[in-house]
Amino acid sequence: MTPFAVRLRFHGDLGFFLRSNVPGGIIERIIAEKTSVKDVIESCGVPHPEVDVILVDGQGVGFNHALASDAEVEVFPVGTCDPHLKEKQLQVSCISTFVADGHLGRLTRNLRLLGFDVTYDRQADDQQLLDVMAHENRALLTRDRRLLMHAIVTTGYYPRSQNADEQTIEVIRRFDLFESIAPFTRCLRCNEKLQEVSKTDVIEKLEPLTKIYYEQFRRCTGCGQIYWTGSHFEKLQKRIQIIQSRLAEKSGV
Ligand SMILES: [Zn+2]
Repeated sequence: MTPFAVRLRFHGDLGFFLRSNVPGGIIERIIAEKTSVKDVIESCGVPHPEVDVILVDGQGVGFNHALASDAEVEVFPVGTCDPHLKEKQLQVSCISTFVADGHLGRLTRNLRLLGFDVTYDRQADDQQLLDVMAHENRALLTRDRRLLMHAIVTTGYYPRSQNADEQTIEVIRRFDLFESIAPFTRCLRCNEKLQEVSKTDVIEKLEPLTKIYYEQFRRCTGCGQIYWTGSHFEKLQKRIQIIQSRLAEKSGV
């Protein structure tokens, strides 16, 4: 087969995944055999779950589209392509359950704080993460690029920031979760739902000062942890407000 040239242009923040010496997000590859567009894109360092629209010579294609001759490839991330490319989109945005890798404990806590269902096990290995993702139809959150490139991953996200609050905002934007935020409905420890309980139900388990000062309580339906509107509640509420105002700023609301 005669080698052919593929010119790829990465739009939006996909440049994040390219080496820093790639001007304008444009990469040229000489290829010697028929190759799927997905493999060519991932060879540039961009995991496929980050790619929402692929145009090959102006036509929208799927990940398995085979390249066998010279081609111009335009690659768009989620949320940035033209509205008229909507039917070419390869990613779903309406997923609100996640599995996070062991390095994303603080992001997990933030997302649970906002009411989102996030499976997390600090010790989980790659195979366990992929199993949970596939069996429970969860989106994979990881900063392990190789893991995100795994063939069975359909929906996933690589948080750009290393800061948990920034990552939280990124995830809410990526998966369009703004309307689904429900603070203090999920256990930060075990991810199960919280249930309102009366003070008399939990009074035996409370510290003396908590008994005196607080009236409203919630209990985890999983691990039994009791939550009340104490000082930790106020701290958490402040963090939620900061995240929510940052989101409003960024989306121009
Ligand atoms: Zn719990």
